[in-house]
Amino acid sequence: MKDRLAIVVPCYNEEEVLPSTIDTLKKLIKQLAAEKKIAENSFLLFVDDGSKDATWEILTKAHEADACVWGQKLSKNCGHQSALLSGLMTAREYADVSVSIDADLQDDVSAIAEMIEQYRSGCDIVYGIRGSRKKDSFFKRSTAQGYYKLLASLGVKTVYNHADFRLMSKKALDELAQYHESNLYLRGLIPLLGLKSGEVYYERGERMAGESKYPLRKMLALAMNGITSFSIKPIRMVLNMGIIVLLCCLAAAIYAFVSYVGGNVERGWTSLILSIWFLGGVQLLAVGVIGEYIGKIYNEVKRRPLYHVETLLGDRKEEGA
Ligand code: UDP
Ligand code: MG
Repeated sequence: MKDRLAIVVPCYNEEEVLPSTIDTLKKLIKQLAAEKKIAENSFLLFVDDGSKDATWEILTKAHEADACVWGQKLSKNCGHQSALLSGLMTAREYADVSVSIDADLQDDVSAIAEMIEQYRSGCDIVYGIRGSRKKDSFFKRSTAQGYYKLLASLGVKTVYNHADFRLMSKKALDELAQYHESNLYLRGLIPLLGLKSGEVYYERGERMAGESKYPLRKMLALAMNGITSFSIKPIRMVLNMGIIVLLCCLAAAIYAFVSYVGGNVERGWTSLILSIWFLGGVQLLAVGVIGEYIGKIYNEVKRRPLYHVETLLGDRKEEGA
């Protein structure tokens, strides 16, 4: 049995890396097909996430040159997670199994063969896991690891050191399609599917060319989604904090009353002003966290589509591929 593989690659302004990425991935699927590990009509699905550079032109040419290169153009920039989901949902229609990978090929493409092996031996999801983070900057490494620990302590199930390099079978994609979240954090959703999963370890390299399309702002937004979409512990923490502050106030009130009865009244300006600021701060924080969740609810109830596919360069009918 040979399954049709789709390699899904979200691309945002990736003109610098695309030609070599297309080349590498094309060679890979041809080799896997020659080794009879995947079907001949397997394909690469590049999702152009509203790029402003020559990304789409490069993809159109590559599609004309070789039918195994598919392109899907989103009408505007929807962000990495939505672009990836749009590609996976297209892959679900045409392929038996998908592998998602970033356009800069920082993830080791040779791990894909092993992912397919594990898929063939029965796994529906295979996570690509970075063996080490030696090549990351100290800042990225320590914040990422701290973040994974924070997620774990908040009860969010994630796979340590796994980003979005993973294999998913059609079955896993069908299950994923049942989720209708607007605040997407795929890394947190996929373990929730509970399907049989495997792991492949690899070393992550550096970006071949161009610069990161994940500035700090987008990284923080993703990190925030990871927490608030999967855990309500922050709300509980606010509640607990409120209880503790109330208890402190009670103790302070008793102290003040005893001092008053003893005729030992403090002028107390400092403590008064401090407590006003402190309580004001706690309240603002609490309102902020609650607002964050209300914002999420607002976004979810609207159920807006996450992306709009403008064009799909896919199967060429005349070739019957
Ligand atoms: N990306 C995307 N839309 C965006 C931002 C990024 O599709 O709005 C893609 C990008 O083209 C790449 C992947 O997401 O394929 C990961 O981005 P990048 O490699 O820049 O992130 P980093 O490795 O620096 O975290
Ligand atoms: Mg990258």
